[in-house]
Amino acid sequence: MSKGIISKDEDYSQWFNDLVVKADLAEHSAVKGCMVIKPYGYSIWEKMQSVLDQMFKDTGHSNAYFPLFIPKSFFSKEASHVEGFAKECAVVTHYRLKNDGEGNIIVDETAKLEEELIVRPTSETIIWNTYRGWIQSYRDLPLLINQWANVVRWEMRTRLFLRTTEFLWQEGHTAHATAEEAIAETEQMLHVYADFAENWLALPVVRGRKTANERFAGALDTYCIEALMQDGKALQAGTSHFLGQNFAKAFDVKFTSKEGKQEFVWATSWGVSTRLMGALVMAHSDDSGLVLPPKLAPIQVVIVPIFRSEEELAQISEVADALSKALKAKNIRVKYDNRDTQRPGFKFAEYELKGIPLRVAIGGRDLANGTVELARRDTKTKETVQQQGLAEQIEQLLVEIQDNIFQKALKFRAENTREANTYDEFKQMLDETPGFISAHWDGTPETEQRIKEETKATIRCIPLDNKLEDGTCILTGKPSIQRVLFARAY
Ligand code: AMP
Repeated sequence: MSKGIISKDEDYSQWFNDLVVKADLAEHSAVKGCMVIKPYGYSIWEKMQSVLDQMFKDTGHSNAYFPLFIPKSFFSKEASHVEGFAKECAVVTHYRLKNDGEGNIIVDETAKLEEELIVRPTSETIIWNTYRGWIQSYRDLPLLINQWANVVRWEMRTRLFLRTTEFLWQEGHTAHATAEEAIAETEQMLHVYADFAENWLALPVVRGRKTANERFAGALDTYCIEALMQDGKALQAGTSHFLGQNFAKAFDVKFTSKEGKQEFVWATSWGVSTRLMGALVMAHSDDSGLVLPPKLAPIQVVIVPIFRSEEELAQISEVADALSKALKAKNIRVKYDNRDTQRPGFKFAEYELKGIPLRVAIGGRDLANGTVELARRDTKTKETVQQQGLAEQIEQLLVEIQDNIFQKALKFRAENTREANTYDEFKQMLDETPGFISAHWDGTPETEQRIKEETKATIRCIPLDNKLEDGTCILTGKPSIQRVLFARAY
């Protein structure tokens, strides 16, 4: 244990919680299941948002905003959708409080809403009700909209970032003239998410499709990206849904085709949430703190002076300022921490905890030698290097660190993805060497359900790059045409 963080080998779950709090990412709030995202955590989320937002715009989408509240009647229009979300809905019934005359503030029963409002758990219904007015002809299609918002799902078991009652996300909602176009959109956005996860979060993901059991309520097909955390549990990091004509039919959204026929519109929706922050922490960090991939780190390089006098600090500051300037010219996010209220050792520990990818320390001896001490957070290695050409070296190193973090996670996933051929082998793996388990399944929801009940493992996805392979189901022995990916998951 260091810095008040329990070791991840001792208690992974507690380690994650300690780390999120100690590194100043977020904290629990007065409302159960809801968190406060602190400035440092929020700055990472903002970076994620800005990158994703650009990726959405580059693929033709525009942002819009829809109401937080959804009339209950809208919610009931798509049968499987309401069934899937009913258990997690927060409902607004009244709109006024009053003083009961004895100093207590109570709900004013006379101020009852005529129609109850659902706090959105997702916005398909209110959006498709709106689209009815926006779509008349094939010329209005495709409609490619994204919304950045908060949503509420009354989750029973919550965990900072990974599963909270209120969370921040984006939800894309698109409308198309044909099924083919909508499916192409669903797949495109899955690849956008996978690209973001791998190239920015340095998080390798499996791209796949959910089984019917795990599908989004109201979707015909759910695509997902699945990642492996360091404790061998899987995390669903993003989803993209092909909704068919379900919502168009529920909200009567038709268009006149080129041939002059009235047809229902085809839909997709896709989302990633603040859960990605949890994925980032769980996938790369260690017992000393966060390990942030340079591309998402709010501060990429920190410069710490080690000085014995005001005069020495002034000399070091000259070197530090020149380095900062050279780094900023390369768009590298740098901070010079010249506080004299904290000792260097304290600062080192703090930046380690916060996952700053590179630390430059400059002391008196460095001034004489024209050197600095350069320390990497990912490998925890230190070396003395020349000041000459340092900005270029750092620029190069940040690329290397990003890649190293990804490769490490990729290697971990490869080492923790196994094939099981019998149910006994499967159960043993789950207990002894958790990770992804590739196994044959007979394709029925009943078998999937039984495996889930008996082992707590679920089918994370049917990978998109799956090869067909004849085999027998690990549970029933019935024939199977392919392996699917199982794991215990968050
Ligand atoms: P869904 O609308 O259920 O497909 O979820 C969209 C995205 O939100 C997925 O990437 C989920 O992982 C994420 N998500 C779902 N529920 C929560 C939650 N309670 N807290 C944080 N993220 C969530």
